[in-house]
Amino acid sequence: MIIAIDGYSSTGKSTFAKLIAARLGLIYLDSGAIYRTVTLFALQSGYITGNVIDNEALKQDIDSGKMKISYSMDNPEGRAEICLNGVNVESRIRLLDVSDNVSPIATIPFVRNFVDSLLRGYGPQGVVMDGRDIGTAVFPEADLKIFMVADAKIRAQRRVDQLVAKGEKADFDEIYRNVLERDYIDSHREMNPLRQAEDAVVLDNSYVSVEQQMIWIGWVLKAKLDIDF
Ligand code: C5P
Repeated sequence: MIIAIDGYSSTGKSTFAKLIAARLGLIYLDSGAIYRTVTLFALQSGYITGNVIDNEALKQDIDSGKMKISYSMDNPEGRAEICLNGVNVESRIRLLDVSDNVSPIATIPFVRNFVDSLLRGYGPQGVVMDGRDIGTAVFPEADLKIFMVADAKIRAQRRVDQLVAKGEKADFDEIYRNVLERDYIDSHREMNPLRQAEDAVVLDNSYVSVEQQMIWIGWVLKAKLDIDF
């Protein structure tokens, strides 16, 4: 079974997807984390200068396997956390320098092809995967597609709350600007832009709690796939 959860940044896709995966006994995979890890690698390698990305150098490192992405289960909850060349970067990739550069990196076709093939490898195991193009490009044959939207200011506030909870500094205006900028780049890029799949069910969770979303997904799973949640 493949459940694709796409939508705008900070709509709570990962919280929602993780809970569904746990209840259904499926793997959860955060495709945005992979784009973020590629971006961190490019930043650390000095391949991003202002608005200019050294595509050739990045491609060479991806093709040659110099950039290695893996998962670690080495935490008390047994969560799969993303690693870059053996270093756990699950928290590091959420900081603003990565957020500011990830959408331009995610427009690059060879980066998208690399991430897509990595993601497709998990399909046969049964996954709940979140991102921007899972239901439209990565798994167009997914059993269920959800498209998540929410008011942009509420989304920015959620991101601020997440960073503050982790003890990081967070400025609302800076994060709000980043959310709008990523929305724009993600939905206007040439290759696999963010858009609602025709057969997706839309969830606007601007004023909906996580508990209410779990009730909602129970109805959707029953109605669409005859699954008791
Ligand atoms: O989901 P998250 O906000 O962490 O994703 C970071 C960025 O990765 C997005 O803003 C988007 O540019 C890119 N992305 C993408 N396609 C996906 C998942 C994420 O282009 N399937």
